[in-house]
Amino acid sequence: MSTVVVIGAGISGLSCALNLADARPDLTIRVLEASDRLGGTILTERSDGWVCEAGPGDFVDRDPSTRRLIERLNLSDELITAGNAIRRRYIRHQGTLHSFPDSPTAVQKTKLLSEKGRLRFQFSPVLPAVREDQTVSEFAAAHLGDEAASVLLDPIVAGIYAGNPNELSARSVLPRLVNLAESGRRVCDALIGQGQGKLGQGSMISISGGMGRLIEALETELRDRVERNRPVVSITRGIGNWRVGVGGDNPEVIEADAVVSTLHGPAATHLLGSLNPEIEENLKEIPSAPVAVVHLGFNKKDLQRALDGFGYLIPSSEGGPVLGVKWTTSIFPKGRAPEGHVLMQVYVGGTRDPELATDEAGSILAARKEIAETLHIETKPVHVRVFTHRVGIPQYLRGHIKRVTAIESALSSLPGIYLAGTSLHGVGINACTTQSEEIAKKIVSTLPAKVASTNQAHLSLA
Ligand SMILES: Cc1cc2nc3c(=O)[nH]c(=O)nc-3n(C[C@H](O)[C@H](O)[C@H](O)COP(=O)(O)OP(=O)(O)OC[C@H]3O[C@@H](n4cnc5c(N)ncnc54)[C@H](O)[C@@H]3O)c2cc1C
Repeated sequence: MSTVVVIGAGISGLSCALNLADARPDLTIRVLEASDRLGGTILTERSDGWVCEAGPGDFVDRDPSTRRLIERLNLSDELITAGNAIRRRYIRHQGTLHSFPDSPTAVQKTKLLSEKGRLRFQFSPVLPAVREDQTVSEFAAAHLGDEAASVLLDPIVAGIYAGNPNELSARSVLPRLVNLAESGRRVCDALIGQGQGKLGQGSMISISGGMGRLIEALETELRDRVERNRPVVSITRGIGNWRVGVGGDNPEVIEADAVVSTLHGPAATHLLGSLNPEIEENLKEIPSAPVAVVHLGFNKKDLQRALDGFGYLIPSSEGGPVLGVKWTTSIFPKGRAPEGHVLMQVYVGGTRDPELATDEAGSILAARKEIAETLHIETKPVHVRVFTHRVGIPQYLRGHIKRVTAIESALSSLPGIYLAGTSLHGVGINACTTQSEEIAKKIVSTLPAKVASTNQAHLSLA
């Protein structure tokens, strides 16, 4: 019987294992998780009517792989769709919130840009495709002008990647925008939601009990295929297979026909890098930005203004360690806070202040200061939770595509070794489920099925 080891029980590892188990019940599948908890970045904490997400709280319903997973887990009835409020998004500019312009008329009226910046944005040209890998800042400045680059695009990228637009690769972090530009469309039209190529297609969805429901359902399906407190410490070549070294209280070496690593950051570099210097060199160049998520709950009567939208993003030009604030109960009005209360999520750190992102008390202070200064809420929150992600969001820096090509070419010389997760092809849940599906398919097509022995059994019974 063939054995597949999956390293890490986040959404990537668990969804890969489920795809494998469904397609090939004959495989021995072992999901090894270093910690005592499944879900990785996904964790929903529920207490006294508050539902706080450590990491992702929603995702855009754009990729069939996540939809398929939800259907497979019988969770379709629990899906909730964000309300219309999310269409209004704000940008903090010089300390004040301004609506993100979502139409040509709104662009004309916005105070986010000076007269000069507005004209440059409105009359942005269609530019010929550029061969080199531009940074987000270079791409945005060329297509939208410096001002719009810094006030409109910088905070969007910080909101997704918690990263620095002067370093991130435009092609890797904004592929749809770059493709649009290369097909002769205007980036400014896509950015304000106009024209054929508008950004943000798909609904924003979540699960009524929180994203942790996905993990609970996966755990129920996979049962004892998942092993907790099983840190993988090494992968080495065996004779015609791979040897996976497990540390912890019950050390073991597992002989595996295929190994799927879902790790990113230093852990991925250490494990896969030991197999090939090209992989090590290139994975090292995909760092991660740590992020803290601070949940603040308030009594509605303490609000100084309506939370009438998705929340707001903060350009780096504003200074400070806060990336943005999501108005959770405006996005999903039901089931996220007790009656009469609101919940918001403040994102702290990223490349703007990596140290603060791992400091719980400091992150809470920074979040409260932000809420006091911008939303004028000075009262003590009635609910506070903070989650820190030391190895937060992978940074696809300039040259990322070359790195991906080098890593994938090196992996092709290691048959049976696969890299899933967020290191290469996208940092969101959709990217994870898509990759895990593809890798499961590859494994299924590569490992010999036990059809022959089943037939033999039938023959001998006959
Ligand atoms: C703050 C934050 C907010 C986010 N918000 C969104 C959002 O709104 N929408 C969205 O689509 N995406 C969002 N994301 C991204 C999303 O969380 C990730 O795409 C996804 O959860 C990654 O899952 P994964 O399984 O690849 O990795 P992880 O969740 O990181 O899981 C990896 C697992 O491997 C385990 N592990 C580590 N080392 C070892 C080892 N040596 N041996 C065994 N196991 C090991 C870890 O303990 C962990 O459980 C967010 C991410 C962060 C950090």
